[in-house]
Amino acid sequence: DPEMAIHGKEVIHTLTTAGYEAYWVGGCVRDELLGRTIHDMDMTTSAEPEQVIALFPHVIPTGIQHGTVTVMQGGHPFEVTTFRTESGYTDHRRPTEVAFVKDIREDLMRRDFSMNAIAMDEHGKRVDPFGGEADLRAAIVRCVGRAEERFEEDGLRMLRCIRFASVFRFRIAYNTWKGMIRRKEGLRYIAMERVRAELEKMLAGPDPLRGLEMLGRSGLLARTKVPVPWEQCEAQALSGMVQLPEELRWGLLLLSCRLTSEAADELLRAWTFSNAVRLRLVHLLEWERELTDSAVRIADSSSTSVEGEGINDEPLRRTWIRLLIKWGRDTSSDWLELYKTLPASFRKLPPQAEKHVARMAELAEAWTKQTAVVRIKDLNITGNELVQAMNRPGGPWLGQTMERLLLATACGDIPNETEALLQEAKRVMSSE
Ligand code: ATP
Ligand code: MG
Repeated sequence: DPEMAIHGKEVIHTLTTAGYEAYWVGGCVRDELLGRTIHDMDMTTSAEPEQVIALFPHVIPTGIQHGTVTVMQGGHPFEVTTFRTESGYTDHRRPTEVAFVKDIREDLMRRDFSMNAIAMDEHGKRVDPFGGEADLRAAIVRCVGRAEERFEEDGLRMLRCIRFASVFRFRIAYNTWKGMIRRKEGLRYIAMERVRAELEKMLAGPDPLRGLEMLGRSGLLARTKVPVPWEQCEAQALSGMVQLPEELRWGLLLLSCRLTSEAADELLRAWTFSNAVRLRLVHLLEWERELTDSAVRIADSSSTSVEGEGINDEPLRRTWIRLLIKWGRDTSSDWLELYKTLPASFRKLPPQAEKHVARMAELAEAWTKQTAVVRIKDLNITGNELVQAMNRPGGPWLGQTMERLLLATACGDIPNETEALLQEAKRVMSSE
């Protein structure tokens, strides 16, 4: 964003002109050197928060006790943090003390990896005491200082390490890797929101399998506060992951661990996923299970009844429509997308049903366009009308009958017309 670049420069320039030191630092310098797009700009300065506030008309005191304020410049937010050190990590998470310091090098020392510990001034001159640029060129993630200590201080750094290695396709320096293995138990102190955020960034990247492989090999996967049963994971099932959009990658992961929708639901709650994402994935697994169960049942019964030809696709079509009514079109397309990436050996549909999958999707498409009956309230009859016509007080029969009518209409057995619906209701009820 050229706008952001201009205003960022103004912030650095204002601080420098006022006699302070000021640098871009961290992710934005790293990404600039890698030629990647920069999404936000962090800055570090010798000025203390009050001095920064005095220099700019619009400053938000976002984390003033840690030395961080947000300078609004040209409508863009810039995090400006006073040079500081951190100490007193007692809970494997956060420092208990921060102290302002005068030397940029001391500030850089508290940062996690050499590539994140590069500062750049307004003329593009770099301060890079830990060889960050060389590591960037060599594509290596390397801890600043002694790896074991740094991971001991803050367990989240282990996931950041693997995330960076995965997203940038970097290697991990030998000592950094070794330190991580030694300190992996520390991961259980890290809040699940933060763990999830790191894994989300990793999974969204160009090579999530690389990250998962490193997480598995290091043993970190099994050490999160709420572990996923990774030992059940069938790694081969994941091979098509990059073809999937971000959220469905989690779906594939859950599926490959052979989790039921109930277990997945519990896990996704514990992992602090939003309700929207959780339900999307749970419905996906539910769809997978119900479709598979029905298709297997249909295949079992048709292999004896229908000669030679295998499956009769009418029951399968009805199953699909029933699932569509229950879980909605989004789940249908999510499931198809996921299913297409599964290697043949992980597809659980019986071979006869397998052939029909694509056609089922087309039928479903045509179906929604044609009948446009998806919910009970789309029916041209109300519960009240049914109660009156049947001359029977409401009860469980009512809901059940409405469901039957919905399915029959959606499948195209009867038109969505009041008279036809009433007749069908009478037929259904007298046959019971
Ligand atoms: P991203 O591209 O995800 O924003 P980033 O490196 O910018 O990557 P931030 O969380 O924005 O990550 O942090 C900004 C900088 O703060 C980092 O580059 C690093 O210098 C420092 N930092 C962040 N988290 C840690 C940590 N857990 N331990 C030490 N330093 C950290
Ligand atoms: Mg950042």
